Amino acid sequence: MSDLTIHNTLSRQKEKFEPIDPTHIGMYVCGPTVYDFAHLGNARPVVVFDTLYRLLKRRYPRVTYVRNITDIDDKIIAKAKNSGEAIDTITQRTTQAFHEDMAALNTLPPDIEPLCTQHIPQMIALIGTLIAKGFAYAAKGHVLFNVPSMKNYGELSRRSHDELEAGARVEIAPYKKDPSDFVLWKPSAKDQPGWDSPWGRGRPGWHIECSAMAKQHLGVTFDIHGGGLDLIFPHHENEIAQSRCAHDGAPLANYWMHNGFLTVNNDKMSKSLKNFYTVRELLATAPGEALRLALLSGHYRQPIDFSIESLQNAKATLDKWYGALRSTAAARAESAPPPPALEDALSDDLNIPLAIAHIHEIVSALNRAAAPEEQAPLRAQLLASGEALGFLQQSPEAWFRWCPATCDGPTDAEIETQIAARLAARQAKNYPESDRIRDSLAAQGVILEDGAGGTTWRRG
Ligand code: AMP
Ligand code: ZN
Repeated sequence: MSDLTIHNTLSRQKEKFEPIDPTHIGMYVCGPTVYDFAHLGNARPVVVFDTLYRLLKRRYPRVTYVRNITDIDDKIIAKAKNSGEAIDTITQRTTQAFHEDMAALNTLPPDIEPLCTQHIPQMIALIGTLIAKGFAYAAKGHVLFNVPSMKNYGELSRRSHDELEAGARVEIAPYKKDPSDFVLWKPSAKDQPGWDSPWGRGRPGWHIECSAMAKQHLGVTFDIHGGGLDLIFPHHENEIAQSRCAHDGAPLANYWMHNGFLTVNNDKMSKSLKNFYTVRELLATAPGEALRLALLSGHYRQPIDFSIESLQNAKATLDKWYGALRSTAAARAESAPPPPALEDALSDDLNIPLAIAHIHEIVSALNRAAAPEEQAPLRAQLLASGEALGFLQQSPEAWFRWCPATCDGPTDAEIETQIAARLAARQAKNYPESDRIRDSLAAQGVILEDGAGGTTWRRG
């Protein structure tokens, strides 16, 4: 197997992956803030790092993948205030929806999914350490990280202090020593959630949450830290500042990976631009696997422009892949590892488009193969390649039976009954009746395909 290389945002270069402990890999990916349904852009890092997680699990004996849930945040507080709902109700419902949506995209659950609200003591301890070491200060119920106190602040995003100061000027606060200082702890009003701390009742800032949870579950330094491009600054830069300064300069993560944006007409898909589709609404129109393929259709570091047409194309591609499996179903698939060419593509900084091109080649070869003994190893390769990328895990029958939420055609059972009636008509040589049944089903969007093994069907 070829070496695993990873594009490290720290060096802006592809580097050979050298794990801290080759028997146990640690990976942290920033998770969702749970106040509303995830949009498809939010799903991109989940799907990308799921594909990496699958690769790491094949290459190393043990992987601990940590993805947090941010369940305390000003957006959540604002939503509770506007809707009158309790914060816990909002966060629990949204977390549940997130789990369902991500499962529909065939993503594996992380090994550990820490909640911010369950790590407040660790956050308070980390903030205490930063104050004790002279990197943070309390002011008016807040605790701030003092950016100029860290000599090499800005290494990940490559920003100079002057740029930081210019960027921070808009939100200048009188209690800050430097305009670029950022919040570690802030006071909570009586009607806001808060925890007692040495600096009064309050709540943590966003960045300290990840530093504290990563340390708790992966230790001071771990292998890979991931998230979307927009997290490089300020979120990841500040995670690095907090963790390094608290731990005598020890790195937080050795490799930083960032996925590109999902865009719509070249604008980043985002809540604020209102140009988003939620995963949930798209799942009513297309299978989750098609969403996953649309999200993996470009290199993970490049932007992907999303459209309904691109989703339809992804569905059509999967129709072809599942079609090849269905038409060769007589050849029992042996189990096999993914082919070396596919593993090499993925090991080269997660070259998913090249891995998908290999799947297309296997599908073409499978469609050309006539004999079952020729088909069997190709089917095995296809299934293993599919699994590596999170595809082809359901039966072709289930895939072709999928129908949109608005589907008001016949049920599976009604279709099966009609197919049996058509078969009986054909056996009785009543061809007008068998044709009528086929045409009637076609008019309801159900296409019958007669093959050697009998009649199969799909919703068109
Ligand atoms: P947020 O809830 O905004 O913190 O986003 C959660 C995750 O989704 C982060 O890793 C973001 O970088 C990522 N993300 C948000 N919008 C997009 C987008 N349009 N394309 C790709 N990733 C995104
Ligand atoms: Zn984070």
